[in-house]
Amino acid sequence: MDAMPPEARVTRFAPSPTGPLHLGHAYAALIAERRAGAGRFLLRIEDIDRGRSRAEYEAQIYEDLHWLGLSWPAPVMRQSERLGEYRAALSRLVSMGVLSPCRCRRADIRAALAAPQEGDVPHGPDGPVYPGLCRGRAMSDAAPDDALRLDMRKALAHVGRLSFAELGPIHEGVHGLEPDRMIAEVGDVVLARRDMGTSYHLSVVVDDAAQAITEVTRGADLFAATAIHVLLQALLEIPRTSYYHHDLIRDEQGKRLAKRDDARALALFRAQGATPQDIRMRLGL
Ligand code: GLU
Repeated sequence: MDAMPPEARVTRFAPSPTGPLHLGHAYAALIAERRAGAGRFLLRIEDIDRGRSRAEYEAQIYEDLHWLGLSWPAPVMRQSERLGEYRAALSRLVSMGVLSPCRCRRADIRAALAAPQEGDVPHGPDGPVYPGLCRGRAMSDAAPDDALRLDMRKALAHVGRLSFAELGPIHEGVHGLEPDRMIAEVGDVVLARRDMGTSYHLSVVVDDAAQAITEVTRGADLFAATAIHVLLQALLEIPRTSYYHHDLIRDEQGKRLAKRDDARALALFRAQGATPQDIRMRLGL
């Protein structure tokens, strides 16, 4: 299924510097490097969340990854330096008529979802599916602090049938995007948050293209977001990638490791005398 010549592969590890790297990050980084094989492994710092990103965490990312034995070409792409690129992509989507300004606050959405309705509120990759309160508002009506949402119906009308190749063991195969499910279960996702001017979904798609990534490797928790990314690639007419979603590293209780689980921080293992080899063994690599 993977016909790409080995030396043409490009993968990346894309951490957000919002906390110390833990074992789960080490696993993600090592898988990305392994999947690159004879090709290239790149690093990208996903620091669009200016409120939570910290320079010291970024510095620690470089240190921890070097310690693990990883290397990558310079300069490292940093999302905080690419807001112009995200704006350009948004303009393009605006000109296609697939974005709407949204002034809803969380409380408005909660209230709308709490109103009596049939069945349960579906949850998509970003939480409860947006109930459409601002859908159809014109861009000419946008206030500076509005978020921008993708109008899922209109977006899907612009593209033909889409699918993506998943190479990872959990969901391996070709996955078609089903328009009805995209509308019902993903809905009008935010592409520009009011506090950021962009979003994870938009930035990741723009940057994977800019870095010429051929295979996106990341945790299985992001598998559900992939349909959004494939749709954005089609709308923006940028090269498609294949995907490899790996399993998540869990603690002894089977709970997924989060950045706040400092006890799993790589720096702590290092301080306790662990070697990179110990970490790889612990991760089953
Ligand atoms: N920055 C994301 C994270 O730290 C990863 C995004 C991705 O790999 O697509 O979870």
